[in-house]
Amino acid sequence: MKLADKVALITGGAKGIGKETARRFLQEGAKVVICDRDKDAGMTVLKELGEKDRVEFFEVDVTNTFQIEDVIQSSINTHNRIDILINNAGITIDGFLTKMNETDWEKVIAVNLSGVFKFTKAVIPIMMEKGSGVIINASSVVGLYGNIGQTNYAATKAGVIGLTKSWAKEFGPKGIRVNAIAPGFIETDMTSSVPKKILDIMKEKTPLKKLGKPEDIASAYLFLASEDANYINGAILSVDGGLVV
Ligand code: NAD
Repeated sequence: MKLADKVALITGGAKGIGKETARRFLQEGAKVVICDRDKDAGMTVLKELGEKDRVEFFEVDVTNTFQIEDVIQSSINTHNRIDILINNAGITIDGFLTKMNETDWEKVIAVNLSGVFKFTKAVIPIMMEKGSGVIINASSVVGLYGNIGQTNYAATKAGVIGLTKSWAKEFGPKGIRVNAIAPGFIETDMTSSVPKKILDIMKEKTPLKKLGKPEDIASAYLFLASEDANYINGAILSVDGGLVV
């Protein structure tokens, strides 16, 4: 049990990578609080995961400070602490720059970048008071290398790298580790709208010759959250089958 009795908040935990991470964390003994704006998916995931006494779902939009404060207060009331925050919620609204309007830019910034800022700002005082904690943010291969048609998404995922490294320096001395993962192309709803032709090209470019699965990223989150990663702080862990090599 790598996370026995740890309390973990997972944003975007109702689907895809977040859902698989919730499952994995539960298997490792954690108490999991799933925060997602999709209530139907949240209810479904609760049924799927079972473990009624150790998993909760809260309808939370990471752009909404009041909802964030509510779920944190409730977690404190129930568990009296928060050990792990996984800032995993993310969206894409793709398009070439010439066709991307300001709303598409701002919506993606609001969720992928400001959501990480808001959630962490709300959780950090609790971790600081305890003198320990782990924060893991979802970046992307696209944040490292850019991508055609993803100006907004790439900017947020590169931004996540900047804030991860800043927080690693700011909160390391307080006993809090902050890291990020940079997944390659993973089979979830997010990539289901990417044309097959593009996914085939990505597969071909990947030395392991396959796309990733949500389980692959859940394993990376678990590793960084666990004591196995006790001396890892400020790292951006690529989990991409070697795509960026
Ligand atoms: P997904 O679309 O399958 O799931 C995302 C989850 O986030 C959904 O449950 C959704 O309801 C939730 N969400 C979206 N906006 C939200 C908001 N405002 N507030 C709360 N919840 C919200 O996506 P995924 O593939 O599982 O991606 C998870 C993370 O990994 C994202 O940050 C994504 O950018 C990143 N990532 C994914 C890939 C990939 O190929 N799938 C690659 C690199 C990085």
